[in-house]
Amino acid sequence: MGFTSLGLSAPILKAIGDQGYDKPSPIQEQAIPAVLAGKDVMAAAQTGTGKTAGFTLPILELLDNGQRVKPNHVRALVLTPTRELAAQVQDNIYKYSRYQKLTSNVVFGGVKINPQMMKLRKGTDILVATPGRLLDLYQQNAIQFSQLEVLVLDEADRMLDMGFIRDIRKILALLPQKRQNLLFSATFSDEIRQLAKGLVNNPVEVSVAPANSTANTIEQSIYPTDKRKKAPMLCKLIQEGDWKQVLVFCRTKHGANRLSYYLNGQGITAAPIHGNKSQNARTKALADFKSGEVRVLVATDIAARGIDIPQLPQVVNFELPHVAEDYVHRIGRTGRAGEVGKAISLVEAAEASELFAIEKLIQQVLPRLELEGYKAVNELPKSKLDTRPIRPKKPKKPKKPKIDHIDGQRSGDNARGHKPAGKNKRHYGSSTTQNRNSKSGANG
Ligand code: AMP
Repeated sequence: MGFTSLGLSAPILKAIGDQGYDKPSPIQEQAIPAVLAGKDVMAAAQTGTGKTAGFTLPILELLDNGQRVKPNHVRALVLTPTRELAAQVQDNIYKYSRYQKLTSNVVFGGVKINPQMMKLRKGTDILVATPGRLLDLYQQNAIQFSQLEVLVLDEADRMLDMGFIRDIRKILALLPQKRQNLLFSATFSDEIRQLAKGLVNNPVEVSVAPANSTANTIEQSIYPTDKRKKAPMLCKLIQEGDWKQVLVFCRTKHGANRLSYYLNGQGITAAPIHGNKSQNARTKALADFKSGEVRVLVATDIAARGIDIPQLPQVVNFELPHVAEDYVHRIGRTGRAGEVGKAISLVEAAEASELFAIEKLIQQVLPRLELEGYKAVNELPKSKLDTRPIRPKKPKKPKKPKIDHIDGQRSGDNARGHKPAGKNKRHYGSSTTQNRNSKSGANG
């Protein structure tokens, strides 16, 4: 199926052509017609699936109906968890709308608010925003929502993880009741479904790949080693493999700074990207990495979320994430759009439990490689794949005569430290488009 059959008009098709896309991705095939039909949509899609175009293109089509946006008003609002993601989404909107008369803007925290207030004066057809800054702008009367037609929550799972739920609820309360709602999330936990209940109305559910599936265009392996050897080993791997562009994940901001400093000292250009860096520093690090000026980008999970670097050849986990799902997000940065990518993890003995949790989630034992001179002295325990399905723990026997208790939720395995209700991450709707009858009927 080509883009032409999806119901998009000539200026949008031309902009898509400029990008060199020849056919819609699966998420686009499913989401675009549903959005164009004016439906609410719940989409399970990670970065790399083409989700941004999945909601942007039909919104551009819907808004291109001759209506004018009033000063300080907005017609479509896209909320994102991070500044980087906000900037990228707006970048995409800008590209896709270049043959239309629509306007778009982006606002996020960490930079001066005044220039943003000025930009919003004329009104903007599509606004991309992080929740906190949007509320600040609202409080300063820089933005009004009475003309709002479409709301998008992008990476809703990460917004909840980052504690934005209260801001989101505050924003929802400010929006007109009658509007179209699109909710995009990598996973559909019970928490997200809870949020969705008060948000989407009889939504079309679309999904492309479950959160625990890793693209098979990614070659994954691990190097068991010791903590102290990791940094020199990474240098050696980069130099011997002649890796030109590598994204390295650390667990902490300090760790990312330290590693970046070390690599630079070894003559390998590197820049850290994490939440303690100013917005300008983060934007610059990403731009330098994309241009090839910086060879290694050392990132923490939150900062890396949503970073769009097409066809990244190499991802390294300098430390394994505590949350197994983050491993899937991390390595999703490579092997995109049919390209083969490599994901390598340097694993010390103390990280065995993280490794086993990851292997259980992706249902595969990661092949182990060795690099001469960097073998682990402290041996990493052998992997044994636990192929038992993840089931709810049996409730303890009640002391009193038992009343039948049915609990569809998984209760254990709560790595993220959330309420169990928020952990049941692998339950998407079907893999095809479907109209889900929501009883909630709620729309804010
Ligand atoms: P996203 O999942 O929105 O972050 O998009 C991931 C990458 O895929 C971006 O670099 C897009 O430019 C690219 N992309 C989006 N749609 C398509 C398509 N239909 N064909 C090829 N590449 C695409």
